[in-house]
Amino acid sequence: MGFHYTGTPILGMAKRVEAGDSEIIDGLKNIYKVADSDIKTFVEPIKIADYFHEEIKSGMIEMGYSIDWRREFTTIDPVYEKFIEWQINTLRKKNLIIQGSHPVGWCPNDQNPVSQHDTMGDVEPDFTEYILIKFKFEDFVIPTATLRPETLFGVTNLWVNPETNYEKITVDGEKWIVSAECAHKLEFLDRKVTHDGKIRGSELVGKEVALPHKNKMIPMLEASFVESTTGTGLVMSVPAHAPFDYQALVDFKKNQPLGSELQLIKPISIIQTEGYGEIPAKEAVEKLGISDQNDSKLEKATDEIYGKEFYSGVLKQNTEQFAGKKVSEAKDPIKKWLAEKKYSDILLELTNSPVKCRCGTECVVKILTNQWFLNYGDAAWKTKANKCLDSMSILPQEIRGEFKYVVGWLHERACARQHGLGTKLPWDKDWIVESLSDSVIYMAYYILAKFVNNESLKADNLTDEFFEYVFFEKGEAEAVAKNCNVSIKTIYEIRQEFSYFYPVDSRHSGRDLVPNHLTFFILNHVAIFPENNWPLQIVVNGSVLMDGKKMSKSMGNIIPLRQAIRDYGADPIRLAIIISAELLQDADFNLESVSGIKNKLISLLDECSKLKPGKLDNLQVEDKWILSKLQSLISGVSSSIEKMRLREGLHGNLFSFEGDLKWYLKRAKAKGRDDYSGVLHEINTKRVCMLSPFAPHIAEEMWEKLGNSGLVSQSSWPAVSDDVIDAQAIQSEELLKSIMDDVANIIKVTKMTPKKIMIYTANAFKSKAYHFILEKVMAGQTNMGTIMKELIANPETADIKKNPDFVQRTIKDILSEPVEIRKTKLETAEFDEKSLIASELSSITKADFGADVQVFSESDSGIYDPKGKARHARPFKPAILIE
Ligand SMILES: [Zn+2]
Repeated sequence: MGFHYTGTPILGMAKRVEAGDSEIIDGLKNIYKVADSDIKTFVEPIKIADYFHEEIKSGMIEMGYSIDWRREFTTIDPVYEKFIEWQINTLRKKNLIIQGSHPVGWCPNDQNPVSQHDTMGDVEPDFTEYILIKFKFEDFVIPTATLRPETLFGVTNLWVNPETNYEKITVDGEKWIVSAECAHKLEFLDRKVTHDGKIRGSELVGKEVALPHKNKMIPMLEASFVESTTGTGLVMSVPAHAPFDYQALVDFKKNQPLGSELQLIKPISIIQTEGYGEIPAKEAVEKLGISDQNDSKLEKATDEIYGKEFYSGVLKQNTEQFAGKKVSEAKDPIKKWLAEKKYSDILLELTNSPVKCRCGTECVVKILTNQWFLNYGDAAWKTKANKCLDSMSILPQEIRGEFKYVVGWLHERACARQHGLGTKLPWDKDWIVESLSDSVIYMAYYILAKFVNNESLKADNLTDEFFEYVFFEKGEAEAVAKNCNVSIKTIYEIRQEFSYFYPVDSRHSGRDLVPNHLTFFILNHVAIFPENNWPLQIVVNGSVLMDGKKMSKSMGNIIPLRQAIRDYGADPIRLAIIISAELLQDADFNLESVSGIKNKLISLLDECSKLKPGKLDNLQVEDKWILSKLQSLISGVSSSIEKMRLREGLHGNLFSFEGDLKWYLKRAKAKGRDDYSGVLHEINTKRVCMLSPFAPHIAEEMWEKLGNSGLVSQSSWPAVSDDVIDAQAIQSEELLKSIMDDVANIIKVTKMTPKKIMIYTANAFKSKAYHFILEKVMAGQTNMGTIMKELIANPETADIKKNPDFVQRTIKDILSEPVEIRKTKLETAEFDEKSLIASELSSITKADFGADVQVFSESDSGIYDPKGKARHARPFKPAILIE
């Protein structure tokens, strides 16, 4: 276990404690039950980290996690800092850390870049580049933001919100009019901005602006959908291709007097797209039944048209030099043309705003100049990461595409901060390596941590040379030992352990870390380690919700967890979490399911205490069947765990198997047996073994009660014994179960009290035909006509033509069964239904219905068949008469 101390949130918390902030202090006292004497020390950030470190660790131990605590560390341990210095130096040598000016998510209050770990709700600030089209208004520029520069050719007017306060500003010497919010954003984008005055939106309404590329005037009209926080707070209107604009124009015209020349504004169609007519925006708006410009369905219409026009639209004749080009191909040339002619500018903007910093301030995009960046935009780096990804196992499979997508869009990322705990940049001590950069290859550090904790490794003389020897076997061990003041024995041991443990077999983490940590983990490994040490697997899980609250990373929930362990026990909590969700889903954990599970475990423990080991000889058919079922349980649970489908594995072992056990006990008891304790002992020994990773504490107790020696946690995982699987027994019990179901149904429908139950099994001829049909179905042939023809062509089964119904029903019987059962039937050609029923069925019918069974084959000479039922018998579907 490594404890990640790096970052700023803890600094903010310490400041709030120091300021006597009652919200945080009450929270610590009442929810987290921290003693006053401890809270007093929390003015020092490290004290907060240390306190919760111990709490979390105790919680993990109480939950029964199998953690090798010899390898525990924190990210501010001196040797860890040396390790991070080496990592950062290595990346810089490979030119993967560069100095430059790039955009980042930014908290104006903290003056720090922000990423997922720094924001409320753990959102990664996501931003994109908008094109600002510059319209001319008197001696001002009115810029409008768009992601679709090609639509400039279809612009009919601008939209202005009359309620908005716009600002007159000077941006790098040019006079602009934009919303106050936009002016604020521009200040962070490395632009020189001065404020010259204000202007109300209503003052702009009705005035005209000139298009940037030709001498044409268009009006500024009022629209309520225009938001001051989005773009520049002014919108260029392209009603033919933008549903918002189309609807705003419809709304606008409603309020204009008839005959007004503004009634004459018509959408200008500039893109031809298959499936759409002249005005795609109109079609989309009408299709979705949109009523006005504040209708939320407009977003959907916009996405749909944007996608279709981008991928399959072609620019029309009225788009000047770009006419005839596909939209997807014309976009970049149009951008370039606009920029060269100075018709445009750019604006970086958050696409998922508002994003709030944990300090409460709203984040912006900032161009950070002369800063240190990890060059995740590097094409060769991406290629390597994709190669690794392609050869890795990703569980669950469906999330692989998300990783590909993230590798695709990643770009330069600031890797240092000015405040917080962590390692200083080796070449620029004013900066600290940020928390998503110092936690990407730490798995390699677990190997060192053991030697740090037993004091054979000290930070003092460790150089990059040391890390290169133990991780890459570069250099001479003796020289490294001498230079770094580490014993040669330790160096060899570390090297040996590293070769043993690396590469990382499986990295497990939360879904919210796919866009950053988990992808950085791949990128940094492929950059630093040779291919034979690239990671092999990533497993992604959802969050655990406790009483509806997110638990990931909010340390607060850890203490209620410890309380819950005291109240309910660790095992019931573990199982209740696992049973509630499969990998990607959020596990919703509630105390009701905890007590249900607890009762289940208590009854299993009770059962285990009563069982004695016994010889597994003289097995009867039901014994052979339940032991066969046990083999399928073992293979099912094993394969679920291999796929990390823990819910499925636990459910199979603890709950689904109970149905089979119930039938088994019913059979054994009906026969008056008292000799099956050994079978149950064998079954529960295997089940407890498979329960052990899920409920480690109670499983040890059960193991001991069963009389087994040693610890179940150290015993081998059960193996499937193929020789125990008895196809004949499986068929026998399935047949008996289905007859019992049929008899029960007849009794239920007829409401009779049975005195005698007659069972008629099919004759040998039908059995032959059945097997022929089964073979055909298993080979993929299910056409009734074809099968019929082949049966008639064979003299042995030719008589089937007198009973065409049989073929159809048999195909149906077979198709309604699981493939496994079909295979079993195919393997055992000879199966004597009559003698099985004669010897096994009466005991259960007597127990369940108080009636005996008499069995006949439909071809028996002395058959008792007053209602002529026997001729309906089919193999595995005997006919039944109840009197
Ligand atoms: Zn902040």
